[in-house]
Amino acid sequence: MQVIPPRETDLGGLTVRRLLPRSGRRMIGPWCFLDLVGPLSFREPIMDVPPHPHIGLQTVSWLLEGEMLHKDSLGSEALARPGTLNLMTSGRGIAHSEETPAQHSGRLHAVQLWVALPNASRHVEPELEEHRERPTAELRGARATVLLGELAGVRAIGRTFSPLVGAEVTIDAGAAATIPLCDEFEHGIVPLAGDCLSEDERLAVDHLYYLPPARTAVELRASAGAAARVLLIGGAPFGEDILMWWNFVARTTDEILAARDDWQAHRRFGDVSLYAGARLEAPPFRARPVPANPMS
Ligand code: MN
Repeated sequence: MQVIPPRETDLGGLTVRRLLPRSGRRMIGPWCFLDLVGPLSFREPIMDVPPHPHIGLQTVSWLLEGEMLHKDSLGSEALARPGTLNLMTSGRGIAHSEETPAQHSGRLHAVQLWVALPNASRHVEPELEEHRERPTAELRGARATVLLGELAGVRAIGRTFSPLVGAEVTIDAGAAATIPLCDEFEHGIVPLAGDCLSEDERLAVDHLYYLPPARTAVELRASAGAAARVLLIGGAPFGEDILMWWNFVARTTDEILAARDDWQAHRRFGDVSLYAGARLEAPPFRARPVPANPMS
């Protein structure tokens, strides 16, 4: 398994650990961005990301602990907390903010992901989905909460635009579990908590382990002391070259420049009127975006 250690990145004063995109691995299926936040303890609200725009992607927020308040230009306000999946489809354009709510538990442990939209769907209307149902695949020695797509015949509720899977897998203490995989997908495994082993290799927490296509299963074990929690993502290798710059997933530099201009000119994205405070300004566009497709 290719292993990608986390890289610390500053997100508005909050240190996060980035696993995608990285120089050796831009995407896993359509998954093109993966940040881990926490676990953190705090007294004053710790997260405050002012309104900013997105195009060409879906954002997936999944919390292991704490709360995160989402507000967007559709007028939605959604509180993400453990067990609630927040799925935002930006399509042609949306703006949103993310903050620790005034009433909070003083804890935060979260996974934030982006899914690149395929060409045929990337200009769809923006939408926010909030799902409290937790479709769960019961496996021997483990259970998987299916966040997006399908695993072991269990389908998540959220809207998807290409074949993929996202799941949080809990392996019982001392158990060995066989997680079925789609052999047309490439996959990534990220241990989030507990001691996780695969084929006698100890997997490090917050590291990304890459599995190329043509695997039908992966065996994961938890040490005797505690259950292990693991994030599993996967999808068919994304057959399109994408360009990522700031919060945009596009295909051409012109599209990125147009989206940047529209944000700066208060066009297309709308305002996050529920957010008290100034929005983020786009950074200056300088370098050419890096092609993000691992195939190219
Ligand atoms: Mn965002």
